[in-house]
Amino acid sequence: MMYTWILPLVVALLGLMVGSFLNVVIHRTPRGENVAWPGSHCPRCGESLRWFHNIPLLSWLFLGGKCAFCKETISFRYPLIEGINGLLWLVLWIKLGTTLEFLFIAMTFSALLALSAIDFEYFAVPDSVNFFALATALLAAGAHAWHSGDWSIALIALRDAAIAAGGLWLLAWLIGKATGKEAMGGADVIVAGTMAALLGLPGFFVALFVSAILAIVPSLLAKDTMVPFVPFLAMGTLIVYLFETPIMQALERYIYG
Ligand SMILES: [Zn+2]
Repeated sequence: MMYTWILPLVVALLGLMVGSFLNVVIHRTPRGENVAWPGSHCPRCGESLRWFHNIPLLSWLFLGGKCAFCKETISFRYPLIEGINGLLWLVLWIKLGTTLEFLFIAMTFSALLALSAIDFEYFAVPDSVNFFALATALLAAGAHAWHSGDWSIALIALRDAAIAAGGLWLLAWLIGKATGKEAMGGADVIVAGTMAALLGLPGFFVALFVSAILAIVPSLLAKDTMVPFVPFLAMGTLIVYLFETPIMQALERYIYG
């Protein structure tokens, strides 16, 4: 048992590196730029980053949050997203172990993290990242089905994603017809599908409820300005994903006494 810390360390480092890539996704997809090419460069002076400028967390710290060439301030968002994603991968690995399901689940939550940061800044999210999250959530259910030998798991995830997305789409359409205003975008419908694929239907509704509670205080504080909802949906989804059993037991006790 001497080297038990190596695997979690590798997982956390992998999470940090993926977090670094998420920063590229967050910066480039809303601008319609390619995420793979060209390599990382300073958005102000255009200078290409060397490998040692690209080390998650550490580079930002030793550069003092400034571009190595033109000293332009680098947003605190960069180390923040890296740190959150490293922690996220570690926590999910502790729950799921070294499985294919873990890899797809971690990718799903990473995509939700990128969507949250983009929604926070633009109040809109790119379809490409949104569909990526839905696809990896369904693939996670497929991997779970495969290593448990029970294929109904995959079918149930697919069914629940379709019901949640379809139900929300219908609701938005009805509200739109009744009020003459567009209530929700297509993006919310896809996020709902991802949530239901991860959590199943009862879990999806609980996560919506948790998200709404989390959003109350920021909504009151923001008053007239818009509040992005995807970050709260993502947080609600993560909370229910990690603590589904105790949350469900508490709800049952509360409802049925
Ligand atoms: Zn620069």
